[in-house]
Amino acid sequence: MTELHIGGVAASQLVAQYGSPLYVYDQQQLETNLQAYKQAFQSDRFPTKILYASKAFQTVGMMNLVNQYGFGVDVVSAGELYTALQSDVPVDHIYFHGNNKSTEELKMAFESGMQHIVCDNLMELTELSQLANDYKQPMQIMFRLNVGIEAHTHEYIVTTHIDSKFGMAYDSSDFKACLELLNDNDYLELEGFHVHIGSQIFEMDAWYAAIDKMVSYLNDFDQPLTLNLGGGFGVRYTEDDKPLGIEETMNQLLRYLDQSLTAADLTVKELIIEPGRSLVAEAGYTLYEIGYQKQTPNKTYYFVDGGMADNIRPSLYQAKYSCDVANKMDAEKTEHVTVAGKYCESGDVLIQDVALPKVEKGDLLVVYATGAYGYSMSSNYNRSLTPAVVFAKDGQTTEIVKRQTYLDLLRNDLK
Ligand SMILES: *Cc1c(COP(=O)(O)O)cnc(C)c1O
Repeated sequence: MTELHIGGVAASQLVAQYGSPLYVYDQQQLETNLQAYKQAFQSDRFPTKILYASKAFQTVGMMNLVNQYGFGVDVVSAGELYTALQSDVPVDHIYFHGNNKSTEELKMAFESGMQHIVCDNLMELTELSQLANDYKQPMQIMFRLNVGIEAHTHEYIVTTHIDSKFGMAYDSSDFKACLELLNDNDYLELEGFHVHIGSQIFEMDAWYAAIDKMVSYLNDFDQPLTLNLGGGFGVRYTEDDKPLGIEETMNQLLRYLDQSLTAADLTVKELIIEPGRSLVAEAGYTLYEIGYQKQTPNKTYYFVDGGMADNIRPSLYQAKYSCDVANKMDAEKTEHVTVAGKYCESGDVLIQDVALPKVEKGDLLVVYATGAYGYSMSSNYNRSLTPAVVFAKDGQTTEIVKRQTYLDLLRNDLK
């Protein structure tokens, strides 16, 4: 029987060494994606910068890898900031997002020497202004703007009333007050504007609509500002997903922005994007051991030794994945089954209605493209142990995160 290899290492060997379930990344694929972004996202008109959106998959090892390619990172919490600070990423390459940063988080930003904050709202800027005065420390401020565009996989909508919890409308009184407050502060400096229109986006038209809005705002300022277009670039989870690919997406984005700036006779100080999912999703695999099988009147279940604790996305928003039996890659797919997890929720189903070969207890299931929002959204539900994370390349493995132990579960329990 043909067996799946990831980064040149057999699935059975990975599970034997690191346990099951197991998150495995094809390190070469990660590096290829990083290189593709780095190469394609360049302009001869203005400097460009890529920030990896940490929330998709963050560990110290991952931070160090993106840093090797010259990427910065964005963080959305004290925990993500702390992790980034423990890595090789220079502090001035870290950008802080979030609609409700706590005072403690903002203080941590000043005390760590951060230089970039993406401000969401007027109350936040008021607090930032106070803290900058207290610390007597400069801070560059990007404003998150709500351009009234919501992008989903195959469509985007222009919303008429803009009630998202993120950002401010450019023509709102809050945003005007922010600009005045910032002007009056000796330490805060206007860096530019940020927009993030959605996730798993395949339609370039959604980006173009957002770019048009952002460029129209730049017109009101004498000095060139930085534009940050956020993340949300789509990936392939199943054969129904047809992303354009990193290079083509970046080429089209840059071409459109170029035209838009030329038409408006403007330039930008710097152009930033923040890919998360598209850097890591397809490089990630989850391996499970198959346990029991069960027939119900209308279904055949294959049960695996993980589920919603290591991948909440199918239960949370009906995310679709594809899979194979990793130690029977060339076996005929004669069975139509539902792959369900082991946790105490009826909704703990990983994949509905998939064709797979006949299996035995102990066979290995691989779920593809689990590299984004899998480990980062994992939980200890049912007191399950969070799996190890392993990078595999050229037949070698590097353990990036150790598998949890029962002792880890009790670490904070008091008697
Ligand atoms: C989530 C997020 C990203 C990354 O989104 P992906 O869909 O993973 O590319 C980037 N920027 C901001 C502000 C985000 O909230």
